[in-house]
Amino acid sequence: MPGQRTRWGLTNFPPPEDWDRHAQNDPKTREPRDYMLIPTICFNCESSCGLLAYVDHEDLSIRKFEGNPAHPGSRGRNCAKGPATVNQITDPERILHPLRRVGERGSGQFEPVSWDEVLRDIGGRIRRAIIDGRMDEVMYHVGRPGEDGFAERVLQAWGVDGHNSHTNVCSSGGRTGYTHWMGFDRPSPDYANAKTILLLSSHLETGHYFNPHAQRIMEAKKNGAKVAVLDLRLSNTASHADLWMSPWPGSEAAIFLAVAAYLMRNGHVNKEFMERWVNWDVYLQRLHPDAPLDFDTFLERLTEDYAHYTFDYAAEVAHVDAARIEELAEMVAAAGTALATHTWRSATAGNLGGWQIARSLFFLNVLTGSVGTPGGTHPNGWDKFIAHFP
Ligand code: SF4
Repeated sequence: MPGQRTRWGLTNFPPPEDWDRHAQNDPKTREPRDYMLIPTICFNCESSCGLLAYVDHEDLSIRKFEGNPAHPGSRGRNCAKGPATVNQITDPERILHPLRRVGERGSGQFEPVSWDEVLRDIGGRIRRAIIDGRMDEVMYHVGRPGEDGFAERVLQAWGVDGHNSHTNVCSSGGRTGYTHWMGFDRPSPDYANAKTILLLSSHLETGHYFNPHAQRIMEAKKNGAKVAVLDLRLSNTASHADLWMSPWPGSEAAIFLAVAAYLMRNGHVNKEFMERWVNWDVYLQRLHPDAPLDFDTFLERLTEDYAHYTFDYAAEVAHVDAARIEELAEMVAAAGTALATHTWRSATAGNLGGWQIARSLFFLNVLTGSVGTPGGTHPNGWDKFIAHFP
């Protein structure tokens, strides 16, 4: 029977054992058509969701794309841009060859050139610069450095220091806040198992990795998790939140510090985690050199040092209701070690001192010990597959 499907939950897919030869009726002629189903990736955003390319056995053309149920991130679900990948395959305006400018810059005149010519021309220019010792005239700019360090090694081997990517501009604030805590520059929240999910604009779920993440946030909600969103806009995610706050841009750190002070004041600090993982002795030595060097004294002093970050203080700075901030603090306290938090770009990138927003947000994870726990927030490198060089 053409078009046999396997049902997984609310979705259905051709069974994987049929992927080498899967028959489906042509939607127009209703004649059976034979496909190979080839797993591939959508690259219309950085989620990199899985797709299955339906390749026609007859002429090896790609007829359509559907979700790949075996992909661990997207699990067969895609947004509309995934199946629309077929338009890119057949777009008559796609660029098929390298092009070299032949007219004035900006005149839009190009000629096609071969890859051999490209490599000779650009490689030759780089080589001459290196031989002449003009390393500072070579700059490598990449949109997204997804090769995990390989290009950096090449540049270092050349003695070139000119590696840039858009990430240096838009996410360095967020990364700095996290790096100061743990050496890793990104968080990886375990949404599916969280009790409280705290998201700060512009978090990935508003549009960056939204498909795989949104699925897991909705799973958590079904299991009773609460979602809090701080975002100027009533974004798609904010519209699903139990608590939405729209703070004055750049004031978010004040809110998080008020929540931190609440946690300390009310004994919601995970002492075991803090004692093991935080440099509390250095804190005391630097800020309270005359105090006894023990953990309980550290907690007392820390609580005193942060006491002035009250809900009223944060409400005044952030232009939001103090009661809402207290509500957030209670949600964070209730999560314990299952607090999944996230921020990316926006607030951390668009404001002076924005890196402190990421830093103060992760402070809440540190205080509650929700780091590397089920439902907590992980250093991203722990969950990321990175191929190691020999
Ligand atoms: S979320 Fe949509 S555009 Fe992004 S990778 Fe997945 S299917 Fe493609």
